[in-house]
Amino acid sequence: MSAIPPGFMRVLARRDRADGDEANRLIERSSEQRAGLLSERELGTRDGTRDGTRAEIRAELRNCARAVARVGQVLVRPTHALLTPLEREVARGLGAEVNGTRILGHAFTGVVEDAAHAAGIPPRGTRVVVQPVFSCGICARCQGGLAMHCASRSIAGLDAAAGGLAEIVAVPAANCVPIPKDLDDERAVFAAPLARAIEAVRRGGVEKRTFASVLGDDLSAVLAALVAVEENPLARLVAMHEATLRAAEQFGVRHRALHEIGRRGDQELVIDTTGSAETLAAAARMVQPRGHVVVAGISARAPVAFDLSHIALDEIEVHGSGFGPIAAAVDRLARRTIDPSPLISRRIGFAEAAKALASLGEPGVFSVLVQISR
Ligand SMILES: [Zn+2]
Repeated sequence: MSAIPPGFMRVLARRDRADGDEANRLIERSSEQRAGLLSERELGTRDGTRDGTRAEIRAELRNCARAVARVGQVLVRPTHALLTPLEREVARGLGAEVNGTRILGHAFTGVVEDAAHAAGIPPRGTRVVVQPVFSCGICARCQGGLAMHCASRSIAGLDAAAGGLAEIVAVPAANCVPIPKDLDDERAVFAAPLARAIEAVRRGGVEKRTFASVLGDDLSAVLAALVAVEENPLARLVAMHEATLRAAEQFGVRHRALHEIGRRGDQELVIDTTGSAETLAAAARMVQPRGHVVVAGISARAPVAFDLSHIALDEIEVHGSGFGPIAAAVDRLARRTIDPSPLISRRIGFAEAAKALASLGEPGVFSVLVQISR
């Protein structure tokens, strides 16, 4: 193992018990602040929950102890991470707290730095993306082919498992997918969100539906639309914001503004990537009787109030969709059937990552690329 220079950082989310205005502020600390005691930086969250309501974004860049690999794990040095709406939601309180903090970053690229605890595979120096859902491999669900729903799973950047907005991170070797040589970081870093999009489209069986819509305005919506049109050229993106419709236009995806849709109820499939009361109600209006709605939105917002009578009366099938197959995503990116790099709205350095989370709520800001190391 090489000597670790001082000043390493991870970006993490912390869930303190909130106390007054202090907890509402974004806090950044310099890596030098605790030099000597701590050797890394990470971007973490602070508590987003107060008085039963989901609160504003709380994240900070701070020093932490260096990650340590356990048996079966490798140490990965992240090179790029993608800030997506999911990171913003974790910073707003989504996910399970772990000792009051979570380290952000479910989508990242990196280089294997130490594989000694994983029999040298993948070897040191391998460029990888990481499947963010860590599973045990031995429980009944894992043995039954449902590793993504492992009874003791943890999700990198969302709960117990550290995300990639860190200077070094320990991940299961089995979760590492090597990046093909001709696939650059700026595309490979989309593997995890693209995998979620692939899963949402698969859950909806888009290839079997003549009329299919993806509903939403964020990165997940555009990616799901790109995946959907691969299997059904008639699939379209329905969005509220002009910036999202423009993005669809640039990608050559059919699109409509939500306010133009009306109450026709003519879609066989609607994939809602937002999961708000408003979009779920819109999805229920758009879908035909016995049609399918995929709920793929994950957020920190309060539970939505929603009239289920329409679901019952029209016998609509509702499917949940979570995380997806990352190797399939890497394959699509490598073959260039999907190139999401135009969805990078900004490129920033690690020190700016905490502040950049807020911009992900703005229309047309689909993702922010963070350079962590070279
Ligand atoms: Zn398991």
